[in-house]
This record gives sequence, structure tokens and C-alpha cells, in this order.
Amino acid sequence: MFFNATRQFAALFFLSLSLVSIIVSQQVVKTETLQVTARQQFLRGIYLELIEINTTDSVGDTTKAAEAMAVRFRAAGFSETDVRVLVHPGNNRKGNLVVRYRSPNPKAKPLLLLAHIDVVEARKEDWSDNLDPFKLTERDGYFYGRGTADDKAMAAIFVANLIDYKQKNAQFDRDIILALTADEEGGDFNGAKWLIDNHRDLVSAEFGINEGGGGRHRKGVKLFNGVQASEKVYQSFLLEVKNKGGHSSLPSKDNAIYQLAAAIDRLSKFDFPVNLNEVTRGYFQKMSAIETGATAADMKAVSAMNTTDANAVKRLSVAPYYNALMRTTCVATKLEAGHAENALPQTARATVNCRILPQENANDVQRKLIEVLADDRISITFIKEPKPSQPSPLTSEVMRPIEEITRALWKDVPVVPIMGTGATDSLYFRQVGIPMYGVSGIFSDIDDNRAHGRDERLGVREFYDGQEFLDKLVKSLAGQKTTAIKK
Ligand SMILES: [Zn+2]
Repeated sequence: MFFNATRQFAALFFLSLSLVSIIVSQQVVKTETLQVTARQQFLRGIYLELIEINTTDSVGDTTKAAEAMAVRFRAAGFSETDVRVLVHPGNNRKGNLVVRYRSPNPKAKPLLLLAHIDVVEARKEDWSDNLDPFKLTERDGYFYGRGTADDKAMAAIFVANLIDYKQKNAQFDRDIILALTADEEGGDFNGAKWLIDNHRDLVSAEFGINEGGGGRHRKGVKLFNGVQASEKVYQSFLLEVKNKGGHSSLPSKDNAIYQLAAAIDRLSKFDFPVNLNEVTRGYFQKMSAIETGATAADMKAVSAMNTTDANAVKRLSVAPYYNALMRTTCVATKLEAGHAENALPQTARATVNCRILPQENANDVQRKLIEVLADDRISITFIKEPKPSQPSPLTSEVMRPIEEITRALWKDVPVVPIMGTGATDSLYFRQVGIPMYGVSGIFSDIDDNRAHGRDERLGVREFYDGQEFLDKLVKSLAGQKTTAIKK
């Protein structure tokens, strides 16, 4: 139904001669992006609907978005029991959708497709003229709107592709579970965590795919297709100094603000040691072949296990992203002190936000902070309990199809394992032993990251290519029974 003539031709060809058909289908994909097929139109409609439902924490409503997608699944013939809108009891605006695409004869545990449908706050007045963050605008080869990149593209693609499988009666060796969730971006009702704690049977899987990876290009030249297999651990600390205070006309050297400021100054001059892991070492190795000149040489030096070249580390550390990959980071993000203009401060507080390497430990980081701040009158406490996130193993079951499909679609573009410097909801699944992989085949500009920022956007071609990539990847990971497909 969503196939045009060109695609049917390509599909027939695909059956007869696999090698040639890969080349043909690649060309078809490219020209289609310009023409926009019925299949892509269908996807675009879902994307538009999701973007135009405000799902921010302040006034938005993920229940509305979950319901809208549920309507589509039911209309496509999914049964009531396989389409569940599950609303957090603490807030009726925090709904999640869980859909199960059943295998007639499951031979393995399910595959989980995870995407969050909440978005970061966005104010129209902060965005460029004629762009409304809650309207999907297609302009100059980009889709603009809040959530176009993070994370409604993946959500829309998963919805469109599952409905497509249903309409073609595609059959797989395992169930496919789709979970569209609330509050990944913050908020008190994280849907992924809540589903694991309260509806484990609905979301339990052998492994899953999620945001956090994706391809990177520079000025249109594809650099790599990233697979996020681990991520840093988010941990904030509260620093607090108490003082008896007094009248500001009679100051003493013993001042809570000075004391805290001096300690924070010591922190600003400190760097945690470089500590590469399997994923980041692989990243620098692969990137050293993609980058050029001094950066490539420095990456090569850093990735070599035995020699930690101090100058190479120093040069790479100038780039915040490379620095964050090499070491744990802790940075002051909030300050609060004093109670009156004419009084000596009785309290001074700072928040220090750390992003801890997955192989390191939050308690060790706390000990290190105590040492660096070097003032035992400053208390240093966890703001929330640490949430460690085990790296997911780079198994061939997962990596081989990613590599094969990447090669089929984009020839020489390498697949590169990456460690997320931020955290995603993958951590909640990794914590309960479900490996998660951040992979989408959606390419974005390595030098222009607008997620969470103004004028968030995603390339139109990159969006539709991501649909093709995820279609092939999900079919492969779920074990498609090709003979059972009816057109
Ligand atoms: Zn996200």
C-alpha cells in the first residue's frame, strides 16, 4: 500500500540478485528522498502529529501523544491488549505507550524499541522568526521543530515501520516491543524507569535499541555511523558551608562565600585522570582514521594503551567532547549563598555536576572531590543516589547487521562504537540486565548540535534514510521470516 512502482521494481530485483539490488535500492532511496514516496508521506504525517503535540514537562502532555499513536496502531489492526497506554499514577500528563508486535512462533526473547516522546522546553520567542517550535516546518532540506532530532524522529519511524509490518503481515522470530516514554528529559515521572518497576513483563526484552547513537556528517560528508554502547553516569554533589554570620559592617576573614569560592577555584584547576575503556579506545582508534593531521595523530597516540602521551591528551582535551570521553568531569553548575545584602553569609552552597566514566565509581569521585576541595568545613553530599550504567557488550549478533546495513546504504562509512557523555533512559534497562544500543542511522552535523537548543532541526533526507536503516535493522534483529511476507 505504501509502495510506489519504483520501489516494487526495486523489491522484485532485490529478491533475484542480492548484490546488484543493494546498489539499486540505494539509488532508489536517494532519488526517493527528493520525490517523497507514499511510505515517507505516511511517516511524515506521524512525525508532524508528534511534533505538534506539546510534550514539555511544564505544560505538555505525553499521554496525548501516546493516545494519538495508540489510535493509529488500533486502526492498523493491533489488538487492544497489544496497545497499552500506561499513565503514571502521579501525573495524568505523563503517559507512555507500549505496543507489542507478536511473533506467531517466538524463538527468542523480544526486541525492544525505545524512544522518549517528551521534549525539552522551547519558547517561540527564543526561536528564529517564522519558526514555531511546536509546528513542523520543512525548509531548505530540514525539518524544524522541538523534538525533530530528540527524540520524535526515532519515535515516528518506529511507529510508521511497525504499522507497515502489520499491513504486510510481516512475521518475525521474536516479539517486537515498542515503548514510547515520558520524562526522559527530566521531570519526576520517568516512564522508562516506571515501566521497568511496574510493568516489567510488558517491556522485558533480550536487548533493545534507543537514542544516543546515530551518524555524524561534516558538511554533508558522512563520517561514521555511531553505536552508543555505554554512557557516563550522571551524579550531582551538593557543596555546603555553614557560618555563624553576623553584621556586614563587622566582617571577618572567616566568610562562607570566600571559603566556598576558594574551594571551587581549586576544582576549576583540577582534571580527573585519563581513563579509556573498550568503547572509547575503539572510538579514538576508528576516528584517527577519519580525522586528519594533528588531531588524527593525537587520537592514535591516546588510543595506544601503553603510552599516554601527555601532550596529545592536552591538545585533545581542548575540545570539550574529546575531553569528556577521556575522563570523568565535574563542573560547578549552581551557586547560592547569603540571606541579606547587609549580613555576613550563614550558608553558601554550590552544585557540582559530575559525569562519571562507567568503569569508575561515584564514591571514589566523592573522595576525590573531598581531596581537591581541601576544606573539611565544606560538606560534600550526593544530591541523588548514584545510578550506575553497565556498558552493553559489542556482540556480533548486534554489530554485524549494523555493519552490513551501513555498508549497503552508505558504502565505506564506518560503524564506530561510542560512549555517551550524557545519560539516556538506556541506563534503566542496562541496570536490570537488558543490553541497550543507541543506534538510528540518522545522520546529523558533527559541528551543529541543536538538540535541546534553539531552532532544533533534522535533515529531511537524513530522516528518511533513518527510516530505511531502522527498517532493515529491526527486521534483521527480530529475525524476519522472509517467505511469510504477504504483499
Ligand atoms: Zn533524547
